[in-house]
Amino acid sequence: MKFRNFKMVDYVVYGRGSFNQLGEILAPHRHNNAPMVFLLDHHFQNHELRNRIPLQGNDMLIDVDVTHEPKTTYVDELANLIKEQHGTASGVIGIGGGSAMDLAKAVGIMMTNPGNAHDYQGWDLVKNAAVYKAGIPTLSGTGAEVSRTTVLTGPTRKLGMNSDFTPFNQIVLDPDLIKDAPANQRFYTGMDCFIHCVESLKGTFINEFSRSYGEKAQQLCEEVFLHKDEWNEESDEQLMMASYAGGMSIAYSQVGVAHAISYGLSYLLGTKHGIGNCIVFNHLQEFYPEGVATFHKMVEKNNIFIPEGITKGLTDEQFDTMINVSLGMVPLWENALGKDWQTIMTRDRLRKLYELF
Ligand code: NAD
Ligand code: ZN
Repeated sequence: MKFRNFKMVDYVVYGRGSFNQLGEILAPHRHNNAPMVFLLDHHFQNHELRNRIPLQGNDMLIDVDVTHEPKTTYVDELANLIKEQHGTASGVIGIGGGSAMDLAKAVGIMMTNPGNAHDYQGWDLVKNAAVYKAGIPTLSGTGAEVSRTTVLTGPTRKLGMNSDFTPFNQIVLDPDLIKDAPANQRFYTGMDCFIHCVESLKGTFINEFSRSYGEKAQQLCEEVFLHKDEWNEESDEQLMMASYAGGMSIAYSQVGVAHAISYGLSYLLGTKHGIGNCIVFNHLQEFYPEGVATFHKMVEKNNIFIPEGITKGLTDEQFDTMINVSLGMVPLWENALGKDWQTIMTRDRLRKLYELF
């Protein structure tokens, strides 16, 4: 048995207002007049947070468009813009949800690796250490702040740059930054974390490392979305730590059925990760009975709209595309259903599941 030896984030600062320390944190990482490049989620383009970014000298502040989940072509465009103007960067800092953070990881990698972003979609294809990278979440749930991947849609597939050079050197966990997220978006992204926990805890890859983080993260999600009467400051703190711990849980295990299926929806229909996972998980009672029952209670309590009928009217060919993408997620199925997963999750069964959404 070969044990996974995984690379973690180097530095973590946590606390309300910790964003104010960013200038001081970045100072030792500024080199040779190369700029710090801030990729700011476009939601904040007219927000006071934009004025609090500690810009110096030739630093670049780019409002990144996260209307769609990150594409490899967008990563190349951003990386080329930086290279054209300054040759390289001292560091790349992503401020936003999972999309802006993933863009920062990928652009940081492309500062030091030749070719195009799609050349590095896969496992351990990145050859050179990236420039310094920092991640600052403004939505909590994806665990992108701690993961060793950056999920990108390329010309032929949706696949991350999974590598030891992908994790951030620094993350800034400031619960104040997530406090104004709209209730629906907060729920969809928060449920990504809840689903990570259920899939990790109920999977065959589970070990005590993953369980310790997964149980804590799941408990925190239930605390904020089920057991509290009102959202308060403590809820932001708890959800932010749930995302972190949920990410740590899957680092040593894997996600499962909901993610494997939602990847198909996202590939064909462009359904976003958080809401896509909710649409799928909503119908997965047979795989995760307790988790789905709790999910239903949380949906009701928070008065959240979960779309239905999104696969209605799709052609056989379109269903086949989703089935192919989904069945390609081998480690996820193996974690969820065991080594014999292929005899359990047949194409027919998966087709029937897709017809439910
Ligand atoms: P997101 O980053 O796609 O953002 C969703 C929307 O919320 C955007 O319109 C954004 O502008 C807006 N937004 C961000 N912060 C806000 C705030 N504080 N207030 C109001 N609006 C805000 O959403 P997400 O769910 O955080 O991330 C999903 C992305 O993360 C997907 O691209 C997915 O593939 C990726 N992901 C990555 C990993 C990983 O390990 N790298 C894991 C899971 C998901
Ligand atoms: Zn996820």
